[in-house]
Amino acid sequence: MGSPANGQSTLSGWGRVPVAGREQLSENLEAATRGAVLCRGLGRSYGDSSLPANADDKVVATRLANRILAFDPESGILRAEAGLCLADLNRLFIPRGYFTPVTPGTKFVTVGGMVASDVHGKNHHQEGCFGAHVQSLRMRLASDDIVTCSETENPDLFYATIGGMGLLGHILEVEFKMHRISSPWIWMESERVGDIDEFITALSNAAPRWPMTVGWIDCLIRGASLGRGILMAGRWATPEEAKAKPPPLTRKKTLPFEFPNWAINPLTVQAFNVAYYWQHMNHRNAGLVGTDPFFYPLDAVLHWNRVYGPRGFTQYQCVLPRAAGPQAVREFMELLTKLGGASPLCVIKDCGPEGKGLLSFPLEGTSIAIDMAISAETQRIVDRLNEFVIAAGGRIYLTKDGFTRPEHFAAMEPRLPQFLAAREKWDPKRRLRSAQSHRLFGDRA
Ligand SMILES: Cc1cc2nc3c(=O)[nH]c(=O)nc-3n(C[C@H](O)[C@H](O)[C@H](O)COP(=O)(O)OP(=O)(O)OC[C@H]3O[C@@H](n4cnc5c(N)ncnc54)[C@H](O)[C@@H]3O)c2cc1C
Repeated sequence: MGSPANGQSTLSGWGRVPVAGREQLSENLEAATRGAVLCRGLGRSYGDSSLPANADDKVVATRLANRILAFDPESGILRAEAGLCLADLNRLFIPRGYFTPVTPGTKFVTVGGMVASDVHGKNHHQEGCFGAHVQSLRMRLASDDIVTCSETENPDLFYATIGGMGLLGHILEVEFKMHRISSPWIWMESERVGDIDEFITALSNAAPRWPMTVGWIDCLIRGASLGRGILMAGRWATPEEAKAKPPPLTRKKTLPFEFPNWAINPLTVQAFNVAYYWQHMNHRNAGLVGTDPFFYPLDAVLHWNRVYGPRGFTQYQCVLPRAAGPQAVREFMELLTKLGGASPLCVIKDCGPEGKGLLSFPLEGTSIAIDMAISAETQRIVDRLNEFVIAAGGRIYLTKDGFTRPEHFAAMEPRLPQFLAAREKWDPKRRLRSAQSHRLFGDRA
């Protein structure tokens, strides 16, 4: 819950752009979701997908409904309430030799939010999205009925809910298959990469050899070194490689105050990027790391989103299809640097084939994600990037978005009519809605 300006409560996503509204917290999700318009987990979506379209809408925060209901150590199948936080799941299950099949880059998310965004991780090229590992969902529909859906039971509801940004129903329980892990340690190798073409080749060379890959790009450097950065690849360490003790728990630091708006500017970002790139002095490093620094480096500083100042920030994440070729990625990077979306955070990832979730984000190709402080220029930059992505046959990630125009989204999403048809069937009055669905699909406020 945000600060009560003018006596009005506000809610915001991770990008810290507030809207008027309030959330109801309850550990009894079944009762709380009756008549609700929207559910939200831990608000780690950057834009407006977890925010109400209208201040009076009933928004339920799920994070107190976090019980593990069943676990079968043989099959790895786990059933949990939708508000279970991934950090708690990791704390309980890594020592027992299990890990979530897919993790996003933060552990402060709920399993319900992971389904609604159909999150992907460093292993997307091998394991797909989280939804590919979900066995079934228990949901409260717009009609207030409670149903179960899966690949075989109400499959149209199941696939529209996976990646459906909470618009098909409120997820009460999630059943999914945990993975066995060989140790609580990761064997990681990282290497400096000289430019964007080299990066794409390095990512595709690493994909068959490594279950997990990701890259950081210096998005300010232009010319011959455009797209230089660091490629990181990892796999679970074998028991022989692993250290005798589990990785130590790291003490989290908290960003104690909000930075001013000007703190993130081309000069400070350039200074950070150059320092980060050359900190990687050796061309190649290898060794054991714990799960937290490998999967969640950004979680090391709590409330790091305050660094972008009071105007908040957004993340632009798109995927460019393999068919568009490496030159599309180079041209995208050129456009990005020309438009001046200065940020220390620019991540590149190889995506595997598209999943079955109707609005699920990844498709086979290259994903680029970049944080941007919000300014008077943001809408123009997002429009321009979206035009490029549409022409290349790519798409953006709804859970990061707060600026895409409805006509741009429709142009980049051939599956949209199918998704809207599922909504028409399960919620003909469009009772379930968000600020994002108001913006993109014309739902009432
Ligand atoms: C630092 C950082 C790194 C990230 N890295 C990645 C990444 O690598 N890959 C990736 O895919 N994502 C990534 N994300 C995005 C994040 O994983 C998603 O936004 C995720 O959905 C957030 O989960 P949440 O529980 O906070 O959901 P919220 O942000 O609260 O909600 C997100 C959406 O889920 C819906 N929702 C939540 N709970 C329910 C429910 N019970 N029933 C129905 N709908 C529900 C909401 O309505 C909303 O549409 C990252 C985010 C951050 C802040």
